Order: sequence, then C-alpha cells, then structure tokens
Amino acid sequence: MSFKELKLIEPIQRSLLAEGYSKPTPIQEKAIPALLEGKDLLGCAQTGTGKTAAFAIPILQQLSTERRSSKERRLIKALIVAPTRELAIQISDSFKAYGRNLGLKTLVIYGGVTQHPQTRDLASGVDILVATPGRLLDLINQRFISLKNTKYFVLDEADLMLDMGMLKDVRKIITYLPKDRQTMFFSATMPTEIGELANSILNNPIRIDITPVSSTVDIIDQEVYFVDKVNKINLLIHILKDKKIDSALVFSRTKHGANKIVSSLEKIGLAAQAIHGNKSQNARQLALNNFKERKTRILIATDIAARGIDIEELSHVINFDLPEVPETYVHRIGRTGRAGLGGKAISFCDYEEKPLLRSIQKLISKTITEVTDHPYPLVDTTIKPKGRSVRGAYASNSSRSNTPKSKDTKTGKIRREKRANEPKKKTNGKNVHWTSR
Ligand code: AMP
Repeated sequence: MSFKELKLIEPIQRSLLAEGYSKPTPIQEKAIPALLEGKDLLGCAQTGTGKTAAFAIPILQQLSTERRSSKERRLIKALIVAPTRELAIQISDSFKAYGRNLGLKTLVIYGGVTQHPQTRDLASGVDILVATPGRLLDLINQRFISLKNTKYFVLDEADLMLDMGMLKDVRKIITYLPKDRQTMFFSATMPTEIGELANSILNNPIRIDITPVSSTVDIIDQEVYFVDKVNKINLLIHILKDKKIDSALVFSRTKHGANKIVSSLEKIGLAAQAIHGNKSQNARQLALNNFKERKTRILIATDIAARGIDIEELSHVINFDLPEVPETYVHRIGRTGRAGLGGKAISFCDYEEKPLLRSIQKLISKTITEVTDHPYPLVDTTIKPKGRSVRGAYASNSSRSNTPKSKDTKTGKIRREKRANEPKKKTNGKNVHWTSR
C-alpha cells in the first residue's frame, strides 16, 4: 500500500517523501484511514512501529482542511500529552516534519525549564500543542492555556504515565477538554487502571494491536552474560573496548547507577553521557543530541528517561541491569533493530537477576543465547565458603572474584553448587498483556 492510496493530501505526501518514507508501516495502514474518518483509536504499539506518524498525519490532514482566515488567532486544536520531555520534543519534531508544507504551528511545552518562553509562544497562537502533564496543568491553571477548542486529543505511552504517577494530572487535564473530540490512546501494556481510563475517555474506538512482542525482538541478536554484580562494570568496559560497537545505549535501573557507570567509564578514558530524571532538561537534551549525532558513542539511561526515544541506527543496547518488568526488556532492545536493520542486545545477569531473566525469556518465548567465553564469569559471591558469609568479600578482591569456581572443559560453562534458597520469581501482577484482534 502507498501513502497515495491512504488518500493523503499532496503536501503531506511531499513531506513524507522528503522524510524518505516510501510506504506506510502496518500501524499507519490501519490507523490513518480510521482516524481520517474521525474514529477514536486504542493503540497498542511500541516505539519503532511508526505510531507517531500514524496519529500525526491524520491530525495534520484534518487540521489543514479546516480553514482559518489570516486574521483569526490560532487556537489549540490538537493536544498531544506525553510522559517525558524527550518524547514530547520528538513528537513535536515529527509534527513539524510531516506538516512542513501546511503552515500550521506546533509548540512543545514541558517542565524543568522556565515557563516564560513557552507562555510567550502560546500567546502568539498555536494549532498543535505537545505537552507533558505537569507543565500543561500548571499553565492551564495560570490561564495561559485554554483547551476549549481542542478537537484532537492524543495520550501517548499511557502506561508509563501510570508508572510515573501522572494519572491524576492526566485525569484533571481531560476535564478541560470538550466532550466532542477525537481521542487517540496509546499504551504498550494494559494495567487495570489504564484500561479503565481508556474506557472512560474513548468513544467506540477501533483497536489496533501491532507487533506481538516476539516479532519485534526476533530480528535482534540477543545475548546474555552471567556476571557477578561487582564485575558488571569491568565486563562493560571489556565489551565497550570492542571497536565494533558503533553506538551503545546502556540501561541502568537507577539514576545513581547511571552516574556511577559514567564516572567509571570516564576514568579509563571512555567518553559517555547519562540521561535520567535528576539531570536538567538542557543536560538531557544535549546528551541525547550528542548521541544521536554520534559525538558520543555511549549513552547511559534509565528507563523513564529513554522510553520512546527514537535513535536511528543504534547498533547495541546493553542491559547493565535487567528490568523488573519483562515488557521493559522488549521496549529497551526495540531501540536497536529499527527498520529491519538488525542490531544487538546484550544483557548482564547476576545471580539475583536470574528470575528476571526467566520472566523475560517466558515473555519473548525464546532462550537468550548465553556467552560463556568472557573474562568475568559468574561465580556467585553469595555462596558461603567454610560457613562464612562472603557477600562483598569477593567484591573487594577482584582477582578472586574473577577466578571461576570450576569450568566444564567441554562447554566452557561455570559450574556452581545448586542452592536451596534460589530467590523467588518476581512477577508483575499489574501488567496484563493485550491480545491481538
Ligand atoms: P515511532 O514509532 O513513531 O517512534 O517511529 C519510529 C521511526 O520510524 C521514526 O524514526 C520514524 O521517522 C520512522 N518512520 C515512521 N513511519 C515511517 C515510514 N512509513 N517509513 C519509514 N520510516 C518511518
């Protein structure tokens, strides 16, 4: 199918051509006709599927046909709410790119920066507003923003908003929207609260469930390295020294952990930058731009800071820590392997993370290939030799921790005693997977 067959107007077709898009992605094929008919949409799709264009194109096309006399002030007709600043900027950039021939004005607003430039831009009139919930609500309360003319409303990455404690703000924002509007709702997973929110704001929506989790990950070469927690940083350095890694996005579970990784890498002369919630907006954007422009090869990120961020031709994703929620693994590794290019995802797994690895493998219905030939194999520092706890003792003695307990000469795998007290598998009862329709 072509964009022409989707009945897109010529100025949009031209901008898509300029973007290098030759044909619509599956979500675009399904969503664009329904949205052009004015239907509501409930979408389950990850980043990398082209979901931004799937909602941006029909909004732009509908807005461009609603004429406004040159003297009439621009009023906010479309509102897109996204959980993170980076995601909001990315969405706004997409609207600008696809709508470059339409003469519409897009503005992005987010917190963590002074509000004056944003209120000044709002005052001069805006057609499309992309916003994070907190700043949006702030500016509504200060009467800088009125949503009473909004006809198109998009809620993107709703489950992440739940995780980030933003649902109260989102519910409040919705009360300012006119009832007569078109609503598009996107969420990768469907916890109960999100399902209820979707039901309460959508009107007889079409439902699109793109890419069952496994097909996205199939084209990505996945490996797991079993390694003790204390040796993860050494293993990371060992892997990053491999020149074949063009660009690596490294995931850390915590902000503190991300900072520690950056300083360890910098100590040995590997330039890296971090993005997480404690960094200023400018620092995050700068780090992201440097990475996208290949000025830095290594970006360390927490899930919240990195979710939804689109990076072209990312060669490697490294899970320094495994995520607590298995679906997050799929979101993380989906950053590589874009546009069918393939890519590599490397995961580190320490003893305590083994249950997390099992949950991930169950979700993706696949056993991740184990790399046994590396200098820091897991020897399990929690084992008690001679009845004494050595947790941390091996940690302070890297030569001991690097020495395998015993090695199978055929497989090269490290043997360790079977333990009676394997940690219980952690499950996330909240996240229910959506099924395809
Ligand atoms: P998204 O899922 O919206 O984050 O989009 C992921 C990436 O796919 C972005 O880099 C888009 O520029 C790109 N993209 C979106 N639609 C198409 C298309 N029809 N053809 C090629 N690339 C696309």
